[in-house]
Parts: sequence; structure tokens; C-alpha cells
Amino acid sequence: MLSSLLSLPPSRFPAKTFTTGATAANILGLACAREHAIASRLPSNAKDKTIAKVGLLKACIAAGVVDIKILTSKPHSSLVKAAKVLGLGEEGVVDVGQDGKPWRIDLDKLESTLQNAEENHTACIIAISCGEVNTGRFATAVFDMPKIRSLADRYKAWVHVDGAFGIFARVLPKTEEFLNLHACVAGMELADSICADGHKLLNVPYDNGIFFSRHPSTLTQVFSNPGAAYLAPSTTTLATQDEILSPLNIGLENSRRFRALPVYAVLKTEGREGMEAMFSRMVLLARRIASFVHSSEYYDLLPETDNYVEEDIFMIVLFRAKNELLNEVLVDQINQTGKMFVSGTQWQGKKAVRLAVSTWRVDVERDAKYVTGVLTEVAENFVV
Ligand SMILES: *Cc1c(COP(=O)(O)O)cnc(C)c1O
Repeated sequence: MLSSLLSLPPSRFPAKTFTTGATAANILGLACAREHAIASRLPSNAKDKTIAKVGLLKACIAAGVVDIKILTSKPHSSLVKAAKVLGLGEEGVVDVGQDGKPWRIDLDKLESTLQNAEENHTACIIAISCGEVNTGRFATAVFDMPKIRSLADRYKAWVHVDGAFGIFARVLPKTEEFLNLHACVAGMELADSICADGHKLLNVPYDNGIFFSRHPSTLTQVFSNPGAAYLAPSTTTLATQDEILSPLNIGLENSRRFRALPVYAVLKTEGREGMEAMFSRMVLLARRIASFVHSSEYYDLLPETDNYVEEDIFMIVLFRAKNELLNEVLVDQINQTGKMFVSGTQWQGKKAVRLAVSTWRVDVERDAKYVTGVLTEVAENFVV
């Protein structure tokens, strides 16, 4: 049901599982990516010297690889954490973002970095920020994914998409007002792995992440639970299209709860139409707030661009107060009203407010009035 909702053809993504969240799903993705990066470089007389089999250090030596880099643009902190957990290190994460739009992948930078890495016996993983957490902007535009895919194939790189919240833009109706967003999530089906969060836009309780991969054999190679005969499921064989792989062998946990259940309930209750309507409402509310902020005498909409295009806004609104003193305390001032909750972040070295719309309860008219009312009240009541 999720594959269909996200237009990820099930035949293309035979491996899929639920995780505790997008952090864990990023770990699954990078673990597979790391396995692939080395396995694809092993000489034919040492094909069995995989990371899963002989360990990272020996596998790298067998493959003639001295380093593994993750090329990305403005990654979520959890992707860097995943890199640390997997022995790739914080410094293994390399920025290939555009100069003026740091959330967008710079394809020329990506290509030259891949080429340079190849010459220096360095294997690469490409990670797509499908939804940058501060701005809600996307790493790719409409024609980027096919180019990224062909670069990845040329340089034996795995493509992982961190789509924690952004991948759900694929569910929006294909109407004029959402075409810009559809362009940003086009081609995600070309990735090797994709992560998403259930406990964000799907509005299910915490402890719900989602992982898709095109490569069940890699996933099983990394995550199979070896030698525990007493746990062997009745079908240990790899997936044919209709088989369900045991979660025991494709994820982190041996024991886990039934995470698919709340997602099933949401999808069953809402159907595609209900989900489209729910995401549309979230986006339209975010746009109403963004447009208010953009034209406000008190606030600046971020990221600052020459031309504001409302259709580029997804469900996050990033902004700051024009008054520097107010800006210093803005997050607290907003949250202390008790009427809404925003989180604080940094943008270009300065404090900023990150407002994320992520609830099924959105009523665009009512909530636009409410939120803009709070923002006006906070600015007007501020006395130095
Ligand atoms: C929230 C988020 C994560 C981490 O998700 P958890 O579910 O909290 O583990 C990863 N990537 C992005 C883009 C996110 O927004």
C-alpha cells in the first residue's frame, strides 16, 4: 500500500521493512551502500571478501579501497550519525551542494568529486536530502535523478534517498499548484534505497520509520541473523516478488513490535484520496504562513531568494525576525504563548525559526488565521 501511495513500483523495490525511525532507516541504507561500494570493487578471485563476511578493514584491503565517502547536500544530522555508527566517520560526509542553494546537489561538483575519488581509490555513496530539514527544500530538480543515476552507475556508487518527510510530496495531487514539488521528487524510484518516516507526515505514533531497497540480496547479506537455527523462519530464501522477507533478516532488531499496523490503519481509513487531501492541506497552510511572513513588516522569510515562489514551499516555513533583539528570543516568545510550538535552528550562522506543519488536523483557513495571529501578537507585544 505504501509502495503504491509513493509510486514506488513494488517490482522495483522488493526489499522493504519498518524501522524505529528515519535514523535507523538511514543506517540500513548506508550499511547497504557501504556493502555495495566494496563488493562491487572486489576482484573476481576475492568476491567473497565482503564487509559482512570479513569485516570493513579486510574487505577494503581486498577491494583496494582506502576510503569511503558519502556525497550529499545539507544532510540531516541523523545521516551523519549513521556515518559514525557505520565506521565511515563524520568526515566521511562530503558536501557537494550548490553555492547559492546549499540544499541542492551541484551535479558538476558531484561528478568531479566522484572522478577524483575514483582516482584516489575511494568508494562513494550518494545521499539525496529529499527534504532538507531547515528549509523543506529538495536536493534535486526534475531532470537530476536520471543524471545522478548514471553517474552512480559509472562510479559504482549506491544512491540513498533520505525522504523522511519529503518523499510524501509524491502523494500530492498532480495539479498546477503542486507541480513544482513533484519536480523535486521526480525520479526517486531510480534510487537504490529510500527511507521515510511514518511518525512525521503519516501521523502515526512514534517508533515508525520505513525503508525501501531495490536490492534484497545486499540487505540480507548485511542484516541476516546468522546461525540462529532456532529462529529460522519457514522461508529463509530471498524474495521473489510476492514473498515477504522476514524482518529478522532485513533490519536491526530481532524482536520488534508490529510497526506496520498503525500505518495500515491510516492508509486503510484514508485511502489515496484522504492522504492526498491531508498532505494538500498541510502544504497549503504552510504556504499561507510563508506568504504572510514574506510580506510581513516584522519577519523575513528564509532562505532569502530574489523571487519568492509560493509553489516552492512544502510544509516547512523558515524565518527570522527583522528586529535582531526579538530574533534572539523569538522561539521562546512564540512557544510561551502556549498557542503553537516551533523549533529553533540556525540558518547562515544566525538564529532562525522553523515552523513545520505536520498534522492531520489542519484546517487551512482557521489555522492560517490562528498562526498569523500568534506571529503578529508576538511581534507587536515585543518591548525591549
Ligand atoms: C526527522 C528526520 C530524520 C530522522 O528521523 P527520526 O525518525 O527522528 O529518526 C532523518 N532525516 C530527515 C530528513 C528528517 O527530517
